[in-house]
Amino acid sequence: PHQIEIRNLHVSVDDLSILRGINLTIPRGELHAVMGPNGNGKSTLAKVMVGDPEYTVTEGDILVDGVSILEMEPDERARMGLFLAFQYPVEIPGVTIANFLRLAMQARKEEGEEVSFTEFYGKLQTSLKTLDWDESIVERYLNAGFSGGEKKRNEILQMLMLEPTYIIMDETDSGLDVDALKVVANGVNSMRGENLGGLIITHYQRLLDYIVPDKVHIIVDGRVVQSGGPELAKKLDSQGYDWVKELATA
Ligand code: ADP
Ligand code: MG
Ligand code: MG
Repeated sequence: PHQIEIRNLHVSVDDLSILRGINLTIPRGELHAVMGPNGNGKSTLAKVMVGDPEYTVTEGDILVDGVSILEMEPDERARMGLFLAFQYPVEIPGVTIANFLRLAMQARKEEGEEVSFTEFYGKLQTSLKTLDWDESIVERYLNAGFSGGEKKRNEILQMLMLEPTYIIMDETDSGLDVDALKVVANGVNSMRGENLGGLIITHYQRLLDYIVPDKVHIIVDGRVVQSGGPELAKKLDSQGYDWVKELATA
């Protein structure tokens, strides 16, 4: 099956239970939004999917295209086609965007396979165009002195270059003005189609005006308390989160 399947997932940090039985299936070709009040486990879900060692899976499984990824290192997961855009991007001193992109593309190849300059440069041109970004940016050091908007744009550039099968975006919209938000959304929407699936994690509905999700799931207290269509995100926007918190205790 071409899908991500999260099966009865329980996750703890230092004996503190955070996720308490998450069940979600995201077919390739669909983008699902995960929403919820702050501090209820959204980022934990993203981090455990990419293999952050701080988080312990105590029960359940995560399957990508039918294969459990729990024992895989983050780079193996990346080769399975998973891509995570972080809420707080890292700075890597001394590494330019161009270097980083080249290395990241190479890391996804099979052994002995090379990323050719033509392949790299061709993709770079197309991706920069989609993002309305000048080529000079790729000679800058990764995230060093970048504005919030530039960091996000850089993440989307990585995404466009790496062509992941599944994306996980954690609060990629936080702190963005409307113009930056549109750039991010354009980049994601340009990749949409039957070969892309994933999760768009967001506290606010705003991003979902531009990236319209196929489904919306609400996480409260480490569990999915409600799933629906895009209208569910609109309801959260107009009515807030109080009513879903009540669902969690019902
Ligand atoms: P959200 O993304 O929905 O705001 P998080 O997944 O970041 O929520 O956090 C869920 C809960 O787990 C919070 O109470 C948070 O403090 C706790 N938590 C998350 N990561 C850690 C960690 N590394 N160490 C301790 N507690 C954590
Ligand atoms: Mg948080
Ligand atoms: Mg979070």
